[in-house]
Amino acid sequence: MAYKELNLPSRTIMTPGPVEADPRVLRAMSTPIIGQFDPVFLNLMDEVMDLSRYVFKTENKRAFPVDGTSRSGIEAVLNSIIEPGDKVIVPVFGRFGYLMAEMVERSGAEVHMLETEWGQIYDFEFLKKKIDEINPKIVAIVHGETSTGRLQPLDELGKYCRENDVLLVADTVATTGGVEVKTDEWFIDANITGTQKNLAVPTGMSPLTYNDRIESILAKRRKVEKGLDYDSENPRFIQSNYFDLSQIQEYWSPSRLNHHTESTSMLYALREGLRVIQEEGIDNRIERHTLHGNALSVGLEAMGVKLFGEKDSKMPVVTLVEVPEGLDEVKIRHTMLHEFGIELAGAFGPLAGKVFRIGNMGYSCRKNNILHTLGALESTLTHHGAKVNKGDAVEASLEFYKNLGDKQPII
Ligand SMILES: *Cc1c(COP(=O)(O)O)cnc(C)c1O
Repeated sequence: MAYKELNLPSRTIMTPGPVEADPRVLRAMSTPIIGQFDPVFLNLMDEVMDLSRYVFKTENKRAFPVDGTSRSGIEAVLNSIIEPGDKVIVPVFGRFGYLMAEMVERSGAEVHMLETEWGQIYDFEFLKKKIDEINPKIVAIVHGETSTGRLQPLDELGKYCRENDVLLVADTVATTGGVEVKTDEWFIDANITGTQKNLAVPTGMSPLTYNDRIESILAKRRKVEKGLDYDSENPRFIQSNYFDLSQIQEYWSPSRLNHHTESTSMLYALREGLRVIQEEGIDNRIERHTLHGNALSVGLEAMGVKLFGEKDSKMPVVTLVEVPEGLDEVKIRHTMLHEFGIELAGAFGPLAGKVFRIGNMGYSCRKNNILHTLGALESTLTHHGAKVNKGDAVEASLEFYKNLGDKQPII
């Protein structure tokens, strides 16, 4: 079989990831390969660390990506700091909370999983009580839960954890780079994100950062591969080699310990993605995501569809729409994709079939995409027999943008 050259349709990706990569990122990826210890490449690694600190809002010494999708960074942190029998609280409020709990369990911890109905978040007083009761080593929590579209505030929790000498590990995969995340100010000890969401870079890396409190655990567990170091036996060694942060951090330091081979093209991509954020300004970028998210909600409400979940805890970058009575969610998404070229996302677990999810992240988060999505969705729902307020959605959204005056986002 002689296959044809790769030739894909153009898509507007309005999901919670992967989203459209910034064209500048795609261009950077086509740059030729250079060696992993070439001084030019080493300099790029340093720039990525510096830019990561900017996006994470941290002064931490350690800020670098793990090669792999977002969960690789989460697994690297959990694997590297959890030892058998450690007590870890995981407050779950959707699918990615369960993922964290599962990784904590595989690391050999004593897991204290909290569960709440999908669509809700945790009250700080409740979490505080649980911390007092259980006295854990770690609290591991999702910030923006893309499966339910809910945002869990971390500031009070972080402060309380620090006061009580508990480590806070946060999954900010769906928030960093598009929603406010203040690593240092909120006392997050280890913060992990991903590339394919608000950073507008393809999937394949997991930028993370952690502080001295985490690093002191790594120091006690350090063991380097034979062939590089014959003296580093350590009974407390980290189970995983690939996810061993004690070695990876040395690869990302002046000693350049030979661990994995850094993913060259992905590093170019991440550097450009982070540089674009610096150029836009992280706070401008967060505001852009909030405004486009609001424009989408205003349009959907004018259309007459119901948004899932409480308003107060809504993520600005993910919107869950309840499937109108009698309609098939799969058919709605099928029409959106095949007739309009717009991809929306389905849902998991208890929400499967009941809602569909719209993302406005990274390079996908643009005014024209919001307006196209609203127009196409109105036609699609009408086509499948739903009663919607025809003509109102795009109009309401346009009005919303107009009323922003000079506060309108540039894209
Ligand atoms: C997307 C996502 C992940 C998992 O990301 P992968 O890149 O698929 O590993 C984890 N947590 C949250 C909150 C996410 O939205």
